[in-house]
Amino acid sequence: MLLGAHVSTSGGLEKAPGRGREIGCDAIQVFTRNQRTWSVKPLEKKEIRAFREAREKEGIRKVVSHASYLVNAAAPDPENLKKSRALLAAEVDRCVKLGLDALVLHPGARIEDPLKKALERVAASLRPLLDKAEKGGLMVLLENTAGQGSVLGADFDELGEILDLLEGHPALGVCFDTAHAWGAGYDLRGRGLEKTLKDLESRVGKGRLHCLHLNDTNVPLGSRKDRHAPIGEGLLGLPLFRKLHKTRSLASLPGILETPNGMEGWEKELKLIRGRKT
Ligand SMILES: [Zn+2]
Ligand SMILES: [Zn+2]
Repeated sequence: MLLGAHVSTSGGLEKAPGRGREIGCDAIQVFTRNQRTWSVKPLEKKEIRAFREAREKEGIRKVVSHASYLVNAAAPDPENLKKSRALLAAEVDRCVKLGLDALVLHPGARIEDPLKKALERVAASLRPLLDKAEKGGLMVLLENTAGQGSVLGADFDELGEILDLLEGHPALGVCFDTAHAWGAGYDLRGRGLEKTLKDLESRVGKGRLHCLHLNDTNVPLGSRKDRHAPIGEGLLGLPLFRKLHKTRSLASLPGILETPNGMEGWEKELKLIRGRKT
């Protein structure tokens, strides 16, 4: 697996690859903009150039972006839906310009809508973006969730259904988050890991998994809570992450830490997963 972490872009996008390299990342995840706001400042040519050069120089093999948490592609409220779709389109555009490999997003929250209607709305939100993504070499990845509140995507079937509604568009795939799967009730301990990954593949189709989020967690199995713990300090445990890292079929995929201890913690956790002394 190409291990990495969600690194900061403070001071400019071009700072991210160096930050990743410094702590031993082969892949990184970033927000391409301030993810707490709706407004989007256009990317300047020099920003794009600086980022691409930094990535090349630091030898970061995969760069994925996480979409803003403000986006709800399933929003029943027309105003919120419109804003979400515009922001998502802007994020896809930025990712393509920066030459990123994938944009990860949560499917959304249905609020009080019936499930089927909500999934159709997510598909309708994504449909206009996928051809552009494909042309730009960008994968759009739906992340599995812990299923807190009315959030979609805790059940792999829901991810599969969105893929089906979009006729399995080639630019569409999934990102698998270990902590979210656990929160959603998928037991990853022992043989549970193989079983869960097989289950995911059977629901979303072969070759659809393009990214993993490696997070430990201390919430109870199936609690529908989303809380991340440092690798090896949660109920999932270090052996699980070592096993994932060594899985041959996942060798070319980014495995991104979103754990809470920042640069220092990630450097240590990346070494732990790789089996090196810290
Ligand atoms: Zn996420
Ligand atoms: Zn995640």
